Amino acid sequence: MLPVRYALNVNENTHPIPEDVARDIVESLARAVLTINRYPDREFTALRESLATYLGHGISPDQVWAANGSNEIIQQTLQAFGGPGRSVLGFPPTYSMHPILAAGTGTKWLTAERDADYTISPETAVAAIRAQRPDIVFFCAPNNPTGTPLPLATIEAAYDETDGIVFVDEAYAEFSPTDAPSALTLLPGRERLLVSRTMSKAFAFAGARLGYLAADPAVSDALRLVRLPYHLSALTQAAALAALAHAPEMLAMVDDIAGQRDRLLRELPALGYRVFDSQANFVLFDGVDDTAATFRALLERDILIRDVGIPGALRVTAGTAEETGFFLESLAELGARGAVKA
Ligand SMILES: *Cc1c(COP(=O)(O)O)cnc(C)c1O
Repeated sequence: MLPVRYALNVNENTHPIPEDVARDIVESLARAVLTINRYPDREFTALRESLATYLGHGISPDQVWAANGSNEIIQQTLQAFGGPGRSVLGFPPTYSMHPILAAGTGTKWLTAERDADYTISPETAVAAIRAQRPDIVFFCAPNNPTGTPLPLATIEAAYDETDGIVFVDEAYAEFSPTDAPSALTLLPGRERLLVSRTMSKAFAFAGARLGYLAADPAVSDALRLVRLPYHLSALTQAAALAALAHAPEMLAMVDDIAGQRDRLLRELPALGYRVFDSQANFVLFDGVDDTAATFRALLERDILIRDVGIPGALRVTAGTAEETGFFLESLAELGARGAVKA
């Protein structure tokens, strides 16, 4: 990690966790450490119950599976349902780890194009599945790195078209408008639908490594076959449990962050850039004349953002009001379209 003052590159929640929650986490860890000579609860029963309660939508603990970050959730899913001779279909530009984890598990990575402004219509998803017949379909909703929301109708149509697994990565779901429906609402009656979440982003818990998914209980049975024994440490379980007990407080900053995202969506066009609709905690903007030069010029001002490899475009995480303001001011100082002044 580069030691920069303004790290707006990996969509972390830049707000530290509240101090009273931190104290409860430490107490929970202190209790867990007294039995650390024993292996942890490999069924992470208390954590599953807590995650099921947090998710709501009538989801039961046996529908929940957890791992060390949603990256491990994705990897275990590919180990269980992908592998040599099988394929997974994604819609780039999308989460960079999807193809990397596909490669790591020997699963063939297939791609299909998105519609205008990075959306995916039901027809586009169905046509791609019909043409390529993947074993697994990956969606990312809202999509990283573009922020694009995904209509539930697209997920439903994709599910009806394939007899394989449909995996929806909802890492940024909490930043969506409260009336934006989650794929969790589609779970009843769809035993091949998997919806993953993470505590890394909205929960400000990236360092603790806790991702999870909700699906039919048979999915947990399949993932049990590929996970390493006792994959979820007693300390991870204890920390996550304590944090979940403070869910409303942990999520208190989410509205502020969504407000800063909306500020980026408003103010970047005023600086001459085009933004893409985002329901996540970051914004993709294009119209940058020289992305490498803009990236470097911002870095000289101690701001790290992300070049996601889309020509003319850069991605920035919505931080605190101060961080977001400093980013916008610095970009404005670079002049029209990020051109570096001589
Ligand atoms: C950040 C991110 C994740 C990563 O999550 P961890 O839970 O920290 O492993 C998963 N999916 C997407 C789309 C992300 O952007």
